[in-house]
Amino acid sequence: MNLQEPFDSYRPRLASESCESRTRAHLEEIRKRQSLNAFLSVFDDEAIIEAKRVDERFARGIAGPLAGMVIAVKDVLNMKNKETTCGSKILRSYHSLYDATVIERLRAADAVFIGKTNMDEFAMGSSNENSAFGPVKNPRDESRVPGGSSGGSAAAVAAGLATTSLGTDTGGSIRQPAALCGIIGLKPTYGRVSRYGLVAFASSFDQIGPFGNSPRDVARVLQVIAGHDPKDSTSSTLPVPDYLSAMTGDVTGVKIGLPKEYYSSALSDEIRSTIDRAVQMLRDRGAIVSEVSLPHTEYTIATYYILATAEASSNLARFDGVRYGYRTEHAADLAAMYTKSRSEGFGAEVKRRIMLGTYVLSAGYYDAYYAKAQKVRRLIQHDFFKAFEHVDCLLTPTTPSTAFRMGEKMDDPLQMYLSDIYTVSANLAGIPGISVPAAGDEKLPVGIQILGRQFDEATILNVAEALSGGNQ
Ligand code: GLN
Repeated sequence: MNLQEPFDSYRPRLASESCESRTRAHLEEIRKRQSLNAFLSVFDDEAIIEAKRVDERFARGIAGPLAGMVIAVKDVLNMKNKETTCGSKILRSYHSLYDATVIERLRAADAVFIGKTNMDEFAMGSSNENSAFGPVKNPRDESRVPGGSSGGSAAAVAAGLATTSLGTDTGGSIRQPAALCGIIGLKPTYGRVSRYGLVAFASSFDQIGPFGNSPRDVARVLQVIAGHDPKDSTSSTLPVPDYLSAMTGDVTGVKIGLPKEYYSSALSDEIRSTIDRAVQMLRDRGAIVSEVSLPHTEYTIATYYILATAEASSNLARFDGVRYGYRTEHAADLAAMYTKSRSEGFGAEVKRRIMLGTYVLSAGYYDAYYAKAQKVRRLIQHDFFKAFEHVDCLLTPTTPSTAFRMGEKMDDPLQMYLSDIYTVSANLAGIPGISVPAAGDEKLPVGIQILGRQFDEATILNVAEALSGGNQ
């Protein structure tokens, strides 16, 4: 069985294998699918010049490992001389002075950058409806959301506007849109990939990771971007293994746990039955599947929204109208200039998070909320470490439902926050997670999430390969 098969038809038929023709084909798709609103900037001519350069290097036998790959970049990552808006009016027309480390590494590997993708403002959201530049649409059904916050990056790969893309994941923003758009999305272990040049949302949660149409494409990108960076003191010095050679798709003897708390009655029948089929397939291929327990699961959403908003309220203090981006024109004095620049520059969800974060850090409430949530975070992490004493990875749904309709959850932030119920725990625990698409009963894709031990991306990539039909 090949779970990914039903979605192959969405991929563009690319004319030839030269990097230039591939880049042109993607640019053509971008023009055709403008209604998706997936890109905030497209590098047309520059991408073609770069592609020609890669073709020349290829002809001379000196091309890097990503020659021929055309990548889209979430607009929260800095690229020298390019706009970095973070999906926010407050950063409109801000141009970066430097490349993020991931950009430097991809460039050195001969990847071609095609443009920067739309996103929820400052990566806060699960539907891409929080972008100051309009929502992104789901390429499989434009009346539905692509997920968020990396919705533009997910839609771009799902619609064939790029070969792969980069997103960021603070609470699910790579895995959830990957699930809703029917592609692969990987959130690496905290510390596996340098965050230098990533505009911070919640610094102890944020990770950069790839989207692709196959687990192997995602592994190719990870191979290049992973590894220690002296410019990010939280990046790990552990060596980076060879991911591709470990991806045999052979899951004989691999121990897979099903956390029982993730299979509650909140889960739709469609997702449950899709998961059942995937589990059966892995069993047939020799995996050993058992039930495990993560007892503190019910506290994950609350813990995440206390800690992530606290960190965001601190990180976003730098956007003051003085040093970056938007400044109000109607201020009589300095204090009013700060207040109005921020009130006018930030959107509703970002303001909600700044207020929540400021509240949980305030002197009177710090112990009750922030300090308590830090302790619960440790308990949640401990649950995972305990489970990994018995199993090699965990298999869960990525989302509680398939892609929902535009507007459906905009008036109810709590419902929107619950979209991340299965993804935020990995960020709290710092472990890696990948979402693999499967065909649901209806025409929309279902995401299957595989969570692994810290720094064991190799195992979850291999299980993803098996689920995608590798080694049949
Ligand atoms: N949807 C979650 C939030 O709004 C996660 C966002 C993310 O991972 N960047 O916080």
